[in-house]
Amino acid sequence: MSALKICLVASEVAPFAKTGGLADVAAALPRYLHAAGHDVRVFLPRYAKSELDPAETHPVDFMSDVHLAMGRLQFQYSVVTTRLPGSDLRVYAVDCPPLYGRAGIYGEEDDHLRFAFLTRAAIESCQRMGWSPHVFHCNDWHTALLPLYLKTVYGWDSMFRDSRTLLTIHNIAYQGVFARSVLRDLSLDGDAQRFYASDLEAGIVNFLKTGVLHADLLSTVSPTYAREIQSGELGMGLQGLLAQRTRSLIGILNGVDYAEWDPASDPRLPAHYGVDDLAGKEENKRRLLAELELAPADRAPLMGVISRLTAQKGFELLYEALPRALAERDTRLIALGSGATDYEGFFTQLQTKFPGKVCYYRGFSEDLAHRIEAASDIFLMPSRFEPCGLNQMYSLRYGTVPIVHRTGGLADSVQQWHWETQTGTGFLFEHFDRQGLAWALESALATYENPEAWAKLVRNGMTQDFSWEKQGAQYVEVYRRLSGVG
Ligand code: ADP
Repeated sequence: MSALKICLVASEVAPFAKTGGLADVAAALPRYLHAAGHDVRVFLPRYAKSELDPAETHPVDFMSDVHLAMGRLQFQYSVVTTRLPGSDLRVYAVDCPPLYGRAGIYGEEDDHLRFAFLTRAAIESCQRMGWSPHVFHCNDWHTALLPLYLKTVYGWDSMFRDSRTLLTIHNIAYQGVFARSVLRDLSLDGDAQRFYASDLEAGIVNFLKTGVLHADLLSTVSPTYAREIQSGELGMGLQGLLAQRTRSLIGILNGVDYAEWDPASDPRLPAHYGVDDLAGKEENKRRLLAELELAPADRAPLMGVISRLTAQKGFELLYEALPRALAERDTRLIALGSGATDYEGFFTQLQTKFPGKVCYYRGFSEDLAHRIEAASDIFLMPSRFEPCGLNQMYSLRYGTVPIVHRTGGLADSVQQWHWETQTGTGFLFEHFDRQGLAWALESALATYENPEAWAKLVRNGMTQDFSWEKQGAQYVEVYRRLSGVG
């Protein structure tokens, strides 16, 4: 089988820039592809807060102070290359301080320009490298215009004649919708007919929708989510269009980077452990509870939450069941995350109401995230919808039993525990409502009281395999199918 040439373009790649699961995938998949012998080149912006190790970062020949016009706006960019940790793969960061030298990653007024620029800089870098990818793999709305750019602005370039495009939807809730007037800044005002006519009439352009229209193949990050977004509200307005492209839409569950997330070797943990010896897990729990000044809980379950606190994550389902569990049972809770004020207020109130039992850390901490996974017995993830979700898979490997809503990737990665057969890895509730969550939480807490059953449940989860070796092979298959490269 011959090696593939894959150009992957993403707005975030861990550890250089990360706000969510996209960054993890955009690092782990290329790491896998590179290790498997493929020629993969990753492009991302160099943000002000991307801390690139100077010893590992070098300018790229022929890519300094390159001129690029976006409509009437003139920019200059340079490309630097840096090593992806955990690999000898070098990734390419597009350095353009007027566009990326801001405090944050997203939420700027000119995001349309910033990410269309990334897309174009990636294509032009391929030109300068004289490198024709078999597949351009774009991700989410930020880079969803790439297929259209190949057909329009770069349509003249025969070096991309055989290149195919894959657009992966990591979260359809974010579509990149802007006023129609931005077309000029995108250098696409002559190609308005390639956008959705009804959007243009409504005075908007939608990046993701345009990508769905023009990419050769579409994928999303779990088989269940691939089905869910083709009908009903989870399609967020794109369901009709996706249903029309149903033969070109596939779901591949994200993998887990077990080099980063393995309790047997995780450098962030005070004690290591594995499926055959869980003593280290108890030690992690003892230490974290003590450190956060919570009461010891050798025989009481510790529940964990690690999440962006956005409406998608469904924490309102916990509003009754969680205070009840904390009041009526000997339980503990550690929650990590920030975002919506009502969710933050809920966890803050719990902390005030249950001193010694609840700790809420408002913010982002990679370190604490690992330690919560290791210390907790139960992981709460009641997402309203979840394209894939990573934390439930981390939880399984860390022996932390997930409670999840049966949706998207949660449905594809957690299996219902059955007492009679001692099979399953967690607790799933079918309908997104408080009764469902309450049932799942009660079931988990009742099962915890039986140490033998609990130990089996924990072991079932820890032996699941969601490695990139498994999931990445599915992408390779897709790239081959798409490009015809055997
Ligand atoms: P999403 O992409 O919707 O945020 P995922 O479960 O796919 O959800 O990925 C979330 C990633 O972000 C995980 O790696 C998780 O550990 C991490 N994460 C989320 N919130 C925090 C936080 N407050 N601190 C540290 N890591 C976080």
